[in-house]
Formats: sequence, structure tokens, C-alpha cells
Amino acid sequence: MNKNREECYVLTEKLEEITWALDGSCNDIDCDKYMYKRLLKKKYKPVLKHSYSCIPKLKMEKEAVMRLLSLKKFRQFRYKKCEVCGRKIDSLGKHYAIVSFTKPAEYNGKRVYECKLIRTHKKCKHKVSIPMGWQKMG
Ligand SMILES: [Zn+2]
Ligand SMILES: [Zn+2]
Repeated sequence: MNKNREECYVLTEKLEEITWALDGSCNDIDCDKYMYKRLLKKKYKPVLKHSYSCIPKLKMEKEAVMRLLSLKKFRQFRYKKCEVCGRKIDSLGKHYAIVSFTKPAEYNGKRVYECKLIRTHKKCKHKVSIPMGWQKMG
């Protein structure tokens, strides 16, 4: 992998994480929108309210990551293919959406969660069907 591609990949992952979090699949375990709350065995007691504690912080992070990703050196990596209609999407554009699914799995005898992402246009998002054995996040 070349250095730009690698850097772009890391930033894109970060952006995706922020995007789901803004969509209500937060990765903060203390938050009332924690993405795995339905899968937690223990009684779940959130102490943070997503809309007050996380959203302002996430918006700032998103802006910072987007600013980096729109640098010219990453231009060739920013277009993805919509998994519903097959057309091109600008991963920094407002039509880009990610639908995420999760399922429990076992790894070295430990329970972990696998995650699957489907990249689509916002308008194609409702056509994504839930893959067998997976649960929709958020
Ligand atoms: Zn949150
Ligand atoms: Zn599409």
C-alpha cells in the first residue's frame, strides 16, 4: 500500500465511525446511543446523553477529518461504488450513507462482534436488505 492510500484508509475509517456515531450508533459505552447496547449482557446504564455530550464533539471531529480527506493527494481514493445501484458516490459528499450491521462471533474463545458496512447513496439506503444472521446497528 502506498503511504497516501494508507493514510486515506485510516482517515476514512475514522470518518465512517464518526458518521455512524452521528447517526446514533455511538461507540461510547457510557452513552445512551451506544451501538452495542442491545447486545450487552449486563444491565445497561448510560450516563451520557448522545445529543448533548457526543454530537457537538463528533461534529467537530467530522469537520476536521473531512478537511484532511479533501486534500488533493487523496482525491483518487475518495470515490466509492454504491452497493445498491452500482453508480459512483463521493464519500465526502452529502449523498453518501453507510448502513452497518453487526453479529456476534467467537474469536480465540472470546465473544466479539463482527461488523459489516454497506456503502450506498442516501436515496438507495432503504433498499439495502438485512443480510441473513446480521442485525442492524443503532
Ligand atoms: Zn454518544
Ligand atoms: Zn446508489
